[in-house]
Amino acid sequence: MTRWRLIAGNWKMNGLSNALSEVTAIAMAAERHGEVDVALCVPATLIERAVRAAPGFMIGGQDIRSEASGAFTGDSSAAMLIDAGARLTIVGHSERRQGHGERDAAVKAKAEAGLGAGLSVILCVGESDEVRSAGQAVAHVAAQLDQSLPATIGDPAALSIAYEPIWAIGTGKVAGVAEIGEMHAVLRARLVAAYGDAGQGVRILYGGSVKASNAAEIFGVPDVDGALVGGASLTSADFIPIIFAAARPGR
Ligand code: PEP
Repeated sequence: MTRWRLIAGNWKMNGLSNALSEVTAIAMAAERHGEVDVALCVPATLIERAVRAAPGFMIGGQDIRSEASGAFTGDSSAAMLIDAGARLTIVGHSERRQGHGERDAAVKAKAEAGLGAGLSVILCVGESDEVRSAGQAVAHVAAQLDQSLPATIGDPAALSIAYEPIWAIGTGKVAGVAEIGEMHAVLRARLVAAYGDAGQGVRILYGGSVKASNAAEIFGVPDVDGALVGGASLTSADFIPIIFAAARPGR
């Protein structure tokens, strides 16, 4: 099953109006490389303006609440993101799991709510330094995936898994190609176990200090179908070379 690569930027809590020119520049570069999907997950406050700044380009949010509406101060529903023009959302990022106490069951509910509402979903999993040092990385991440996955999926291309070792996020440390390959193979097997053939169509992204200088090597690892990029997605100068690396022939 052919899987187009997906390169998604996660702007986290960065970006004011003056960053919209970066969205436009990134969208124009993405258009020149039609064989790779590109998205930017911007702060909720910027979604609508980013969509207007780059019509047709995939803009996403960084989290949703699983409920459709209600007394949940500060949260946004999938329908709200769609209403603002978003086409995808991240769920289960480690900064939400750690900073907001989100457990696997909540992440699963968010993923199901996002897909059910018509958003594409990037579901994040990953181990801490302590878990890896204890030799438990594969078991930990596999269990996290099993417990966070939506019960059913429609179009497999609407769901992506981002393997993001927590110790590699924003640290400049990158998992080795052997570590990435081992984990992505395990995740692929779990996806096939969960969804049968459709599990082959779910993209598995790597995330953790991806930048222009390491992107090509990471994209060469089997079962790496793209990247979730934090710091290096904030400027077009840093992000566009990563898009180019993903679009290189010979995939
Ligand atoms: C992320 O937060 O999803 C991420 C991968 O960040 P960075 O690329 O900055 O490590």
